[in-house]
Amino acid sequence: MDRRAALGHDSSPGEPDLSPVFPVPPNPDTRYHLSQATIIGGGLAGLAAGAALAERSFDVTILESRPRLGGRASSFIDPVTGETIDNCQHVAMGCCTNFNAFCQLVGIEGQFRTESELHFIGPDGKRCAWKASSLPAPFHLMPAFFRLGYLTLPQKVTAARGLRSLVRHGGRPGESFAGWLKRHHQPPEVIERFWEVVLVSALSESMDRIDVGYARKVFVDGFLANREGWKVIIPNQPLDEIYGPVKNWLEKRGATVRTSAGVDRIEFEGDRAVAVHLRNDETIEADDIVVAVPWDRAEALVQGGLLRNPGSLEKPGFCNLMEAAPISSVHLWFDRPITDLPHAVFVGKSSQWLFQRGEEASTSETESAPPGRSFYYQIVVSASRGFLQMESRQAIELVRRELASVWPIVNEARLLRGRIVTEHKAVFSPLPGIDDVRPTQRTSIPNLHLAGDWTRTGWPATMEGAVKSGFLAAESVLERSGRPANLIAPPLPPARLSKLLFGC
Ligand SMILES: Cc1cc2nc3c(=O)[nH]c(=O)nc-3n(C[C@H](O)[C@H](O)[C@H](O)COP(=O)(O)OP(=O)(O)OC[C@H]3O[C@@H](n4cnc5c(N)ncnc54)[C@H](O)[C@@H]3O)c2cc1C
Repeated sequence: MDRRAALGHDSSPGEPDLSPVFPVPPNPDTRYHLSQATIIGGGLAGLAAGAALAERSFDVTILESRPRLGGRASSFIDPVTGETIDNCQHVAMGCCTNFNAFCQLVGIEGQFRTESELHFIGPDGKRCAWKASSLPAPFHLMPAFFRLGYLTLPQKVTAARGLRSLVRHGGRPGESFAGWLKRHHQPPEVIERFWEVVLVSALSESMDRIDVGYARKVFVDGFLANREGWKVIIPNQPLDEIYGPVKNWLEKRGATVRTSAGVDRIEFEGDRAVAVHLRNDETIEADDIVVAVPWDRAEALVQGGLLRNPGSLEKPGFCNLMEAAPISSVHLWFDRPITDLPHAVFVGKSSQWLFQRGEEASTSETESAPPGRSFYYQIVVSASRGFLQMESRQAIELVRRELASVWPIVNEARLLRGRIVTEHKAVFSPLPGIDDVRPTQRTSIPNLHLAGDWTRTGWPATMEGAVKSGFLAAESVLERSGRPANLIAPPLPPARLSKLLFGC
């Protein structure tokens, strides 16, 4: 795929040419830079904005406060073993078209694999394969759904009726999904075994804290509109090894990428942002500034400007209206394999997803991790408020017992090491009415732009939302510089029947 296509452009000959105005010479020192953009934050939103602008001959500077790129989608070095461990397993889906376009643009798409079969484990421990049939969308997953052994036929019919109604009619404005489920007479077992299995993982929230519109989006984009939407895209390497090298890609295009470079404030003159002031007292002048930090950090950075622009859309105080949900990942190293499955989705358990991370040589000589082979698994628990009340040991034991109830070999296996990582502010909660609070990437200060999964993208807090926000912020910068471009990748095309039946 060429890079324009990767950024969502249709390569049809009649279209306006949106490629860089000047040809890009191979040597970065001799590049022509049209304009300068400073991006605060080196998470996926900042990287996507930076990549899109660097690709269009902007002189890009990315300032990241941490020593590494990737933000919440990154890794850390385990102090016991020295291994690189993800803060949490991240997955994308086939419907994440902007994320996939970003990976193609910066050449990291080969670092992911696509799973075309999912393994659901019912409360009784029995495995149900989830695979598309040859039927066209939206019916491609119907046979797999009707084969799910942990739902009775009447439960399946109730869930299917509910799904049809959700997709056709949506909900009331500002309605919670819990309210919608109640109105549509969905019984507790159907909620636990069908709706929650999909939505808690996808949106990292409980049903009462989900806007019905986002629940609908998950089912439409992921499962009904297009045959490819549901496929799960899994990184083959630790996230750090995937997103870290994006720095080289950016630098080859003349960008400056600085880590351990926290920004303290943005300086404003009149209605313009003129410079960023770093925590080390350095000041960097800027033509355009993209603030790509989490919402609870953004307000402090932009407030000086917003106060000068009373009446602006993104009124001070937006960060108080957003709430966060925690995600925990439990990392377990056993002395033997506990399952052959590459991943598993648990139904009716606290543990939600298991990912097999492979066999490792354990180099540590501590008692808790003796040298030898170890088999590493990561278990993800979204909306993990229950885990926050437990000590690490208790939480690890709970997960170990749940695994043992599915795979009895866990009782014989030696747990060499266990570790739990909880991100308290993992994602923003997609609360009812949340889209009224999320600001757009374009602000009332012409050269100040916002990015981040929390800005208005129509997506929940995901890598897709983050990348899309970065592309939208880059569009805002380009428009201001008089070179408007459409950087957003189109969604997967809805199948004809999906359009006809559900208006997808
Ligand atoms: C545990 C967990 C599991 C998740 N699982 C998934 C998943 O499976 N699939 C999925 O799609 N999404 C998942 N997500 C969500 C996904 O990680 C985020 O939506 C996405 O990475 C957000 O990117 P971002 O760039 O908007 O923000 P961030 O990643 O938060 O990036 C913001 C960056 O700004 C930096 N920064 C902050 N303040 C300053 C400052 N003053 N100066 C300079 N830099 C600053 C931060 O250090 C950070 O690097 C998960 C998130 C977590 C935490």
